[in-house]
Amino acid sequence: MLRSDRCAIVGAGIMGTLVAEKLFSSGWDVTVYERESLDKSGACSMTAAAMLAPYCELDVSDPLVMEIGRQSLESWPLLIDEYAPDIFFRSLGSVVVAHPQEQQELERFYRRIERHVSGVCQKLTVQELHHFEPQLGGTFDGGLAVAGEAQVDGSAFLRSLQKELIKRGVRFIDEVFIEDIGNQRVGNETYDWVIDCRGLAAKDEIKELRGVRGEILEVKASEVRIDRPVRVMHPRYPLYIVPRPNHRYLIGATVIESLSDKPVTVRSALELLSTTFCVHPGFAESHIMNFNVGVRPAFCDNLPRVYLDNRCICINGLYRHGFLLAPTLADWVAQIINKSNCSQIHPNIFMEKACK
Ligand SMILES: Cc1cc2nc3c(=O)[nH]c(=O)nc-3n(C[C@H](O)[C@H](O)[C@H](O)COP(=O)(O)OP(=O)(O)OC[C@H]3O[C@@H](n4cnc5c(N)ncnc54)[C@H](O)[C@@H]3O)c2cc1C
Repeated sequence: MLRSDRCAIVGAGIMGTLVAEKLFSSGWDVTVYERESLDKSGACSMTAAAMLAPYCELDVSDPLVMEIGRQSLESWPLLIDEYAPDIFFRSLGSVVVAHPQEQQELERFYRRIERHVSGVCQKLTVQELHHFEPQLGGTFDGGLAVAGEAQVDGSAFLRSLQKELIKRGVRFIDEVFIEDIGNQRVGNETYDWVIDCRGLAAKDEIKELRGVRGEILEVKASEVRIDRPVRVMHPRYPLYIVPRPNHRYLIGATVIESLSDKPVTVRSALELLSTTFCVHPGFAESHIMNFNVGVRPAFCDNLPRVYLDNRCICINGLYRHGFLLAPTLADWVAQIINKSNCSQIHPNIFMEKACK
C-alpha cells in the first residue's frame, strides 16, 4: 500500500497508540512522538487497572461513558487477537460486594445500573455468591454480579501493541519532548494531520483540564483465588480488587483531586490494604509487589473531549476510562480524518474549536 498522507501523533499512552493503530490500518503514514522511553514509560496508562467496566462505572460517571464503553467492548477481543494474543484478557463480568454498614450503598449501586440498562446486574444471595466466587462467600452476605464486563493487563497490552505496530511500519520516536504542536506541524516537521494525545501534560494549553490522583497497589497472594474484578462499596470512593495472572491482584484506586504524582501516602496505603484484608483474610499473608501513582486527566463533567481545529485533533480527559473508551474514540478520530460519516460522535464530546 502506498502511504502518502502523513499524520503525527503526540503521546504514546493508550489513546495515542490506539489512534496510531486505527490510522495505520486505514493506510496512513504514522509517526508517534513520545517524551519518555517506551520501555520505561510512566504514562498514566501504565498505572491503570484497565477494567473494561461500562456498567459498574455508571456509579460514578455519565451514561454516555457506558454507551461509548459498550462499543469499545466489541473492539477489545479483536485488538487482543490481532496485537496481543498472549496478553491477559478476561471477560467474566464483575462482582460488587458491601459490608453490612454499606448495604444501602449496594442497593443504590444496583438501582443506578438498572435505571440505565436492565438485565446486566443480578442480585446474588450468599449461596449464589459462594457459587460465583467461592472465596467471597465466607465474608459477604451476598452481592451483585455484573455481566458483560472485561479486563486486560493494560501495560502489557500497550507494550505489545506498540511493538507490533513498529514491526508493521509505524514510526515511534521516543524520548523526545515536543514543545511546539500546531496545525499540521510538530516541531519543524509538517504533516497532513496532527493528533494531540498528551494527556495531563496538555494542561497548560487546555485550562479546563484537571488532574485526579489515583493510587494503586499490586500484591501477590498465593492463598487467594478470585477470578473476577471485585468492587467493594466504600464511603469515599469505589475500591476494587482486580485479578491478574499468577496470583497477583491490583488493589485500587484512590480518587483524589490533585495534580500530585508523589509516592503513595501512608493513609491511602492503609486504606487500600485494610480493604483488601477485609475482603479475604488470605490477603494478610500476601506480598506487596508495587505501589503506583497515576494522575488521570479529566474535565469538569468527567467526560472526554475530541477537539477539532482545522487539521489538528486533540483528544483528552479520559479520566477513569482510558482503556474503556479509547478504541471507540480512536474510531471517531479515523472517521473525521478519513472524512467518513462522523454523525455518531456525541456533541457533548466533539467540539469544533481551537485545541488551545
Ligand atoms: C490508578 C488508576 C487506575 C485506572 N484504572 C482504569 C481502569 O480500570 N479502566 C480504564 O479504562 N481506565 C483506568 N484508568 C484511567 C486511564 O489510565 C487513563 O484514562 C488513560 O491512561 C489516559 O490515557 P491517555 O493516553 O489520554 O494519557 P497518558 O496515558 O497520560 O498518555 C499521554 C502520553 O503523552 C506523553 N506526552 C505528554 N506530553 C508530551 C510531549 N510534550 N511530547 C511527547 N510526549 C508527551 C506522555 O509521556 C504519555 O506517554 C486508571 C487510571 C489510574 C491512575
